Amino acid sequence: MSQSELSAKEKTLFGQSTNPSNIEPLKLTMDSKLKFRCHPGVSCFTACCGNIKIILTPYDILMLTRRLEMVPHEFLHTYTMPTYLEKTDMPGVMIKMREEDNKCPFVTPEGCTVYSDRPTACRYYPVGMADFREGGSKDADGNEVTAEEDKFFFLVREDHCKGHEEDKEWTVGEWRADQGVDQRDEMNKKWLRLIMRRKSYGHQANLSEQAKRMFFMASTDLPHFRRFIFESSFLDTYTLDEKIIEKIKEDDVELMLFSFDYLANTLFGAEIPDMQMKEDKIKEKVVQIKERQDEAVLSAVRDYEEMKKERAKK
Ligand code: SF4
Ligand code: SF4
Repeated sequence: MSQSELSAKEKTLFGQSTNPSNIEPLKLTMDSKLKFRCHPGVSCFTACCGNIKIILTPYDILMLTRRLEMVPHEFLHTYTMPTYLEKTDMPGVMIKMREEDNKCPFVTPEGCTVYSDRPTACRYYPVGMADFREGGSKDADGNEVTAEEDKFFFLVREDHCKGHEEDKEWTVGEWRADQGVDQRDEMNKKWLRLIMRRKSYGHQANLSEQAKRMFFMASTDLPHFRRFIFESSFLDTYTLDEKIIEKIKEDDVELMLFSFDYLANTLFGAEIPDMQMKEDKIKEKVVQIKERQDEAVLSAVRDYEEMKKERAKK
């Protein structure tokens, strides 16, 4: 399969960064019409469930681990492999195809065995969404905004997909509602924005290994992230609204949404309402930074003095 075929489902999730031949060069709106139907009667049934890159979002992982009654660590080890997200240095996971037939581990001749909890990319296909707010737009108060006019949709039309030859007609909005995409968008949007923001920064800004590890851990393993919040020095360092603490203690979705805010703060310096670093910790940080700067100056002075000595010897 060509690269464009390989990444068709990935494209529907991350948007249209190039225009491979299988993407129709037409911007669609929520009211645009499409003819499509996928059902066990199509000759290509499950053809799109193999030899494909399906990136998992944190919400996909949460839903699949619940469905399969697995802890994230076990799920990641069994069903996924590491990848980088959307041409950035941000680590993520994709579904590991079966070795014997290069198909998704969840597909059978009867269809998808995790259908009602299938990943976001599988729901989007064949209607992708492009979002112009890649760097994140803000309103006058600095809040991230979602303007409908920033978005458009596009159709992926691959030769092997016979669903386009079916008679069922939908608007894009109806199709998305039927596939449960809107709810996924709501759950994924802050996470996708982190990746798009990183992408728009390019390689101008370094992301430390520690930051990448934190991004991976928060994105793939919520129990681990919860331990980080409640069992590390996190709550000694930050003041966090009591209501938030109560919510993220028990509720995985709330914890996931909080992790996106936390990552936006640590990776890009975004402010989190109701979370502030404690005064004494800020002072400690300032002292640490100053000590590091002092040490850097002293070391530069030492280097300079040594160079002078070397020159004098010569
Ligand atoms: S998760 Fe389900 S729909 Fe998605 S590729 Fe696998 S079998 Fe197909
Ligand atoms: S109709 Fe398209 S989406 Fe449905 S199984 Fe066939 S290739 Fe996949």
